[in-house]
Parts: sequence; C-alpha cells; structure tokens
Amino acid sequence: MRVLVTGGAGYIGSVVTEELVKDRHEAVVYDSLYKGHEAAIVAGAQFVHADLADAATLRQTLAEHRIEAVVHMAADSLVGESCAQPAKYYQNNVVNGLVLLDAMRDRGVNRLVFSSTAATYGEPDQQPIEETAPNNPANPYGESKLAFEHAMRWYAQAYGLRYAALRYFNAAGASERCGEDHAHETHLIPIALQAAAGKREFVEVYGDDYPTPDGTCVRDYIHVIDLARAHLLALNALDEGGRIYNLGCGGSGYSVNQVLEMARTVTGKDIPARVGPRRAGDPAVLIASSDKIKRELGWKPEYQDLRVIIESAWRWMLAHPDGYSE
Ligand code: UDP
Repeated sequence: MRVLVTGGAGYIGSVVTEELVKDRHEAVVYDSLYKGHEAAIVAGAQFVHADLADAATLRQTLAEHRIEAVVHMAADSLVGESCAQPAKYYQNNVVNGLVLLDAMRDRGVNRLVFSSTAATYGEPDQQPIEETAPNNPANPYGESKLAFEHAMRWYAQAYGLRYAALRYFNAAGASERCGEDHAHETHLIPIALQAAAGKREFVEVYGDDYPTPDGTCVRDYIHVIDLARAHLLALNALDEGGRIYNLGCGGSGYSVNQVLEMARTVTGKDIPARVGPRRAGDPAVLIASSDKIKRELGWKPEYQDLRVIIESAWRWMLAHPDGYSE
C-alpha cells in the first residue's frame, strides 16, 4: 500500500515507517521536523517536509504520491505540557487533524490508522483497562485525542472513513536504528538513562504518595517495535467503520521506582532519585488490557520484558550519545 505517515520523523513514527518499509509498503513521511529528526527518516521512505496545517501541500502530497492510507502520528503528546498549554493541543491535535481528515475526504483516501492514547480514559476504577471503559480524560492531551477519535467516528458514518484508533500506553525502547531523542526530554526511561550516562544529576520522582504499592505511579511500558507492528496489523484489517484497540503489555505494570531500579540493573550505574511534587494530570495507575487486539488481529508482543525494553533504549543511547545530533 502507498501509506502517508504523518509524524514519521518522530520517535514512534520512525519505527512505524521502518516496519512499513520492511513489509514492502511505499511509505511517505510527512513531517514538519518541529520535533522530528530528518536523520530518523528511514531509508526507503520518501519525505515531504511540511506542516499538517498546510492544507494545500497535504492535498498535493496525497495526490502526487497516490496515497491509499494514512498513519496519523503527528501530534503533541505531553500530559504536563497540555495542562499548561491546552490551546497548543487543541490546535495541533484537533484542528490540524481535521485538516488531514478533510484533505483525505477530498482525495477519496478512506483508510486511517490513528495514534491515540490511554489518556482518553483518565483514571478508570478498573485495571487493566478495557476499550469499553468510560472515557474521562484527566488532561487536555487525552481530551484532544478523544476529540479526534470522535471526529473519525462521525466521518466514518457520514463519509465512509475506515479507521483504527490505537490507544498507546507507555511506548519505550528502541529499534537498532531508531530511538528516542527529544529536545526537552520528559519521559521516565530516557531521563533515567540520561542520569545513568552522567547527563543529568538525578531523576525527580513525581510524587510518592499515590495509592500504589510503593506510592509512585504505575505504568504499562510497551516496546516501540511491538507498538509499531500493531499499526501494520490495523492497517491491513481496516474495514467498514472504526475499531479501537488498547496497546500495552498488561500484567501489573511497573512503578516509577521499579523502572529506576531496572535502569540501574541494566546500566550498572547509580541513578540518584529525589522525590518531588506530583505532575499535573498524572493518573496513579494505567495498565492496558490488550486482549482485544490480540484476539481480533493476532497481535503478539515480542518484547514484553521491561529489562529488554530498557536494554534496547540503553543500547541506542550508547550508540547515539548525541541523539540524532543535527
Ligand atoms: N515520571 C517521573 N519523573 C520524570 C518523568 C516521569 O516520576 O522525570 C513519572 C510520571 O509521573 C509518570 C511515569 O513516570 O508516572 C511515566 O511518565 P512519562 O512521562 O514517561 O509517560 P506518561 O505516563 O506521561 O505518558
């Protein structure tokens, strides 16, 4: 298939593109490089350097490359930032998303795989979270992703859009070529590894008074390659209407303290931690039930072990001490 990957120069987008190319799809990366890296764009993919808000270029790209399907990953995705700057999240995740939906409608492109998030659920009473759990986002990030999911649902009904919304839990780890390199890193695992590499003095633990076994937040970490492979399964399965799938590894998840401990084990380094205040918008526990995607699409995560996930991220960091260094 000829697939447009918005955000294909980003952390998850680059690995999704890698998997598309491996699977012999024609991938066209569409990225503004405002957060992505040109060096992350996979060999074998084409690249259009443009912003989603640029409707004319988007339409032209869909036409010129005779795009048949879109994997839409270009977005802002930080919980804390979204609480401070909701306008940015509504603009980039909702308004620009609608630009994409309308460009697709104009060009008759009706297949869409969307990177959504567990943040749509807020903090449900039951863990692991199933797709039938009520949506109640606790931050503008989750709210903006849910708004786009709703738009897809109505576009499916009225215009025949076929879509899958993949609700990611905590993507982590790296492929051999592609890893996590954010200008202002906010994610726990890369931050812990930066501390191990001597690039920061300590890791601040955002609160240890949560109602969890050790008081720190519990998350469900999923290897970015397993996550990426789910996009291909979803793409091949698109049919009438929409599907929503959670993507995590389930189990009992890992607390912030457990992640730090595993990062110490993997790196063999001291990683000093200091407890600070809670971060706005953080639910105590987020653990996925991914039974639905396993059952319906035959998704099988290969790298569920936190140790394997952190080892891959550490390998990538050691091989790329300055990230993509542009
Ligand atoms: N976290 C932390 N210190 C940090 C970064 C993150 O304690 O420097 C915590 C954060 O509060 C959350 C978990 O680690 O409970 C995972 O956060 P991350 O930002 O990696 O992903 P999120 O869950 O926000 O998608």
